[in-house]
Amino acid sequence: MGGADAVTALRRLAPSGEVFAGELALSYAEDATPGMGGRAPLAIVRPGFREEVSAVLSFCNREGIGVIPRGAGTNLSGGVVATEDQVVLAMNGLARLVEIDEANLTATVEPGLVTAALHKAVEARGLFYPPDPGSMAVSTLGGNVAEGAGGLRGLKYGVTRDYILGLQVALADGQVVRLGGKTVKNVSGYDLLRLLVGSEGTLGVVTEIIVRLVPAPEARQAMLAVFATVDAAAAAVARVIAEKVVPATLELLDDVTIRAVEEYSHCGLPAAAAAVLLAEVDGMPEAVAREGERVKAAFRAEGARKVRVANDAGERDQIWTARRTAVSALARVRPTIMLEDATVPRSRVPEMVRAVGGIARRHRLAIGTFGHAGDGNLHPTILTDRRDLEEMKRAEAAVGEIFGVALELGGTLSGEHGIGLAKRPYMRAQFGEAGIEVHRRVKGALDPRGILNPGKVIPPRSLVSQR
Ligand SMILES: Cc1cc2nc3c(=O)[nH]c(=O)nc-3n(C[C@H](O)[C@H](O)[C@H](O)COP(=O)(O)OP(=O)(O)OC[C@H]3O[C@@H](n4cnc5c(N)ncnc54)[C@H](O)[C@@H]3O)c2cc1C
Repeated sequence: MGGADAVTALRRLAPSGEVFAGELALSYAEDATPGMGGRAPLAIVRPGFREEVSAVLSFCNREGIGVIPRGAGTNLSGGVVATEDQVVLAMNGLARLVEIDEANLTATVEPGLVTAALHKAVEARGLFYPPDPGSMAVSTLGGNVAEGAGGLRGLKYGVTRDYILGLQVALADGQVVRLGGKTVKNVSGYDLLRLLVGSEGTLGVVTEIIVRLVPAPEARQAMLAVFATVDAAAAAVARVIAEKVVPATLELLDDVTIRAVEEYSHCGLPAAAAAVLLAEVDGMPEAVAREGERVKAAFRAEGARKVRVANDAGERDQIWTARRTAVSALARVRPTIMLEDATVPRSRVPEMVRAVGGIARRHRLAIGTFGHAGDGNLHPTILTDRRDLEEMKRAEAAVGEIFGVALELGGTLSGEHGIGLAKRPYMRAQFGEAGIEVHRRVKGALDPRGILNPGKVIPPRSLVSQR
């Protein structure tokens, strides 16, 4: 079927939504991952009803047209990068907060709802949805589910996967299945719910989500500690954990990141520091006071030069603005950033930080390292310029080495950003050929014609690179 015919058919199948093609479609070629080289897709379909999602899938499955489910396009792994023969299913037309069920501590949402909108709605009822990706002001719940997104509060509260109780999913052929539900316990059948979370739009299209909520913490204490070396800061992270305190958040910023953030957002970071740790404890007021003291003591024991505790909401905001603006701030330093999220067991964070420093020196690159140090999920960010081909070669070699070190230390390619297209070449290094084959079989069982987010996550047989 030709492109124009497909667009006409799609308009008929999604009458309440929007369907467009041509120049407008160009802005759906790529996502927040730099340099992925996407093309304007065949068409964009923004369904207004779930039934339209099924109808579009059923049609595309029959015609063998690739479909890319898309939320806000903020992913950092090339997860929604398109080709000219694919249809983008823009899920942000399905963005209702269906219900907050206080008796069962759940919320039911459509996938296009913006993450921060859910936070706001449940917090107004004294409840809490902890997953908080840095992009939450724009990212969607559907995108969060499909990436298994993490965030700043992962250390104590876990990640999106830990809060998904139920999903409604449209399969590749348009059939709809319900997985899980509102029950706290549910072990019927295979754990298909968990299989779908983090499947990056390659196994089904999420059309409804039931999330678990928890009571909002009564008190919070945020603090910032300044260190003379990154090693000392990394050691302080290990000491906090060894002290058996689990802060909600424990974030590291290195010197490159501190300077970039301070220039960008003027939030009072010590521009000359080698590293800072940002931490927050939360819970009942008495526990917060006690745990706050223990975190401070652990920081001082590892040589913190200064520990500043936020005295009010304004100071707390300042601390978290520093962290939340890290990606945008680094993106201003050089034209291209390569932001990785290789993750190691948290006891290995000091080794990982040292290794990234060594890689930066060896390849003569500026790498800003920041991230969720408390859960071993760092974001070494290479500051480069994709027009400088020689530097890009060094940057790519550095990325390969960063992944290599993470795997050697017992870690993983991605803690929260997913594989998409960007990290696909490294999948064999983590899973081996047998592990990749398992991925292929699962994909083949759920999407036999290979129409869902084609080419993402699983390296093709022809891609023999062992990078
Ligand atoms: C500044 C910045 C900060 C960030 N901080 C974090 C962070 O702290 N933690 C973190 O984990 N990530 C972070 N990210 C990455 C990104 O925001 C997350 O991956 C987020 O979950 C993507 O959501 P999205 O709505 O933009 O999805 P998209 O980017 O549109 O899509 C992401 C994936 O989900 C699939 N998908 C989308 N909707 C559906 C659906 N309804 N059904 C099936 N599949 C679907 C897509 O096919 C794709 O594979 C950050 C990104 C930026 C730009």
